Amino acid sequence: MSKKFRVGILGATGTVGQRFVELLEGHPQFEVTALAASDRSQGKPYREACVWRLPDDMPARVASLHVSAPQPPLDCDLIFSSLPGEMASVSEDAFARAGYPVISNSSAFRMDEDVPLLIPEINHEHLALLETQRRARGYERGYIVTNPNCSTIMIALALAPLHARFGVEACVATTMQALSGAGYPGVASLDVADNLLPHIGGEEEKIESETLKILGRMSGARIEAADMRVSAQCHRVNVSDGHFGALRVKLARAADVEEFTDALASFTALPQELRLHSAPARPVIVRAEADRPQPRLDRDAGRGMSVSVGRIRPDAVMDYRFVALSHNTVRGAAGAAILNAELLAARGYLKH
Ligand code: NAP
Repeated sequence: MSKKFRVGILGATGTVGQRFVELLEGHPQFEVTALAASDRSQGKPYREACVWRLPDDMPARVASLHVSAPQPPLDCDLIFSSLPGEMASVSEDAFARAGYPVISNSSAFRMDEDVPLLIPEINHEHLALLETQRRARGYERGYIVTNPNCSTIMIALALAPLHARFGVEACVATTMQALSGAGYPGVASLDVADNLLPHIGGEEEKIESETLKILGRMSGARIEAADMRVSAQCHRVNVSDGHFGALRVKLARAADVEEFTDALASFTALPQELRLHSAPARPVIVRAEADRPQPRLDRDAGRGMSVSVGRIRPDAVMDYRFVALSHNTVRGAAGAAILNAELLAARGYLKH
């Protein structure tokens, strides 16, 4: 077996950081060798710095690693970042400048013209931007690749097969988003018990802009955004994990329900062809039951990497409506970044 890539996690003590640690335990290509978080945690062994909130035990080898500051150098070949946005812009740039590939969850660089906003099933050709990025930013060996916002990933994965087969002219998305999406400790219990919150700062704008970049095409050395209108309304609901979306779409060409359903259910792409370790066999799973998908029952589909879709019906205003669900800290965050790293490894972008 080939030597594993050594991985550093920035924001390792947080909600997404803990998912990275969990998903990387026993990974065939990556092993965690460095952890970083805020000065509250620095200098402590991970087991003391981190209040572990996942059901399986903290992996013993990682528990004894000491937490560092999120600054280079770190003892690793590549960086996974789950830092808060404002911190990420300084730290991720510093690591890329110091020669590390940075695979980021944070929003800091997602919409920059020279930064891939990668979903390997949809837009692997956007990795061509890395050449432009290195020239523009003066990075020698390092670079930054981002994954989208957690709801955007779900919406883009549901739209991509429809856009490829019929063309999507417009999408109206109403999300109901899990509490873990707000990090820890997140939303105060007294705000969300017996309640829902009709505002998640910046979320609607992220869905509306990121989706067009993800579904855009390379035109020369830049991305031409998809010619589509996207409108989003986002709500925080009292669910632990699993973002849910009610979507309505207007298509460029007519499709009957069978064709529409088949486009979603039969969708596979490069990660499935390459058999990447974290790639689900089916990126989109279509549920036929009238009351599925549901967060508690369906968020772990495809080991948390599949988007579950259901309730596909013609719509009197747009052409079709349906619902979608995905695990916000797996496909929506840590799992997405790990799949990105697996694609980067397969394409020769990672070095020991
Ligand atoms: P979180 O639970 O609040 O964790 C934040 C992490 O960042 C902790 O490890 C924290 O370390 C560290 N940190 C905070 N301030 C820092 C500073 N000044 N310097 C260094 N480290 C600092 O947040 P999260 O939910 O994991 O989110 C992390 C990032 O991922 C955010 O950019 C978020 O937008 C993005 N994201 C989250 C989700 C999700 O579903 N939660 C999905 C997609 C993307 P300490 O423990 O030491 O304070």
